[in-house]
Amino acid sequence: MNRVAFVCHPDYLLHAPPFEHPESPVRLAAILDHLRATGMMDKMVPITPAYAENGDILRVHTPEYLHQLESACRRGDLTLDAEDTYLCGNSYSVALLSAAGAMAGAEAVIAGKARRAFCALRPPGHHADRNTGMGFCLLNNTAIAARYLQARHGVSRILIVDWDVHHGNGTQSIFLEDPSVFFFSIHEHPSFLYPGTGRRWETGKGAGEGTTLNSPMSPGAGDDEYRNAFEQLLRPAVERFRPEIILVSAGFDCHKDDPLADIQVSGEGFRYMTRFVVEMAERHSGGRVVSLLEGGYELKSLTSSVEIHVQELLGT
Ligand SMILES: [Zn+2]
Repeated sequence: MNRVAFVCHPDYLLHAPPFEHPESPVRLAAILDHLRATGMMDKMVPITPAYAENGDILRVHTPEYLHQLESACRRGDLTLDAEDTYLCGNSYSVALLSAAGAMAGAEAVIAGKARRAFCALRPPGHHADRNTGMGFCLLNNTAIAARYLQARHGVSRILIVDWDVHHGNGTQSIFLEDPSVFFFSIHEHPSFLYPGTGRRWETGKGAGEGTTLNSPMSPGAGDDEYRNAFEQLLRPAVERFRPEIILVSAGFDCHKDDPLADIQVSGEGFRYMTRFVVEMAERHSGGRVVSLLEGGYELKSLTSSVEIHVQELLGT
């Protein structure tokens, strides 16, 4: 069994919606209950992150945006964008703590304290761009972890695999012109599904041309279509890129029971995807995988899929 870090903080429950909303603390509470009840929690090494230093966040986000976010929370604004990205008085500090959790997971893995990490974070991050939060996301946890690994540990090639059912537009945008970070997203399309980006022809820009790879999936696609995309698109790309570490934007809203989209991945689909990432990491990246929770809104499928995901990270 491999040593797997479990990164979480009790304050992640303090970012709470002021109105009915799918991204609520209940999600994380259900994951914690399930991992405890199934004994999976006892198999992992717990890590409780400390608050992030500003410099670690500013590698990704602008000071203006951080100021805007902090002020909005202090003023008592209910949303960031007048749409679906809610705020409460705690949201700014919990977002910093969520980003800190991503960095703590990355640190544990790159320093060899754990072979892999599962970071049970909220708020999620992959829609957040440098100067804007959106789609329930305030700070881009995965991007902040990637920049941390580069700046603090000199990692030069990082692969991000984003299987949340929504396109990781924020992460794509942050690394669009950066050849040191390969971004793969598999998500539902066409464009009526949020956020509408992630077409096949979005492949990077400038020096980063060729290190963005999108696999849009039609409504109704499931395990077979996902397996084909991983084997035919992602596998050759990983073989060429040879990442030193793999980060996963692990959204569980592509499960067939999730209400926010129409993709039909099963629990066994999450087993396959996790095994694939672990196998690639064993071949190229010293086994190093840092998985970060993104979406997943139907509690039963969310918790059972997280359990399968953790099993495969452990290699049990
Ligand atoms: Zn999502």
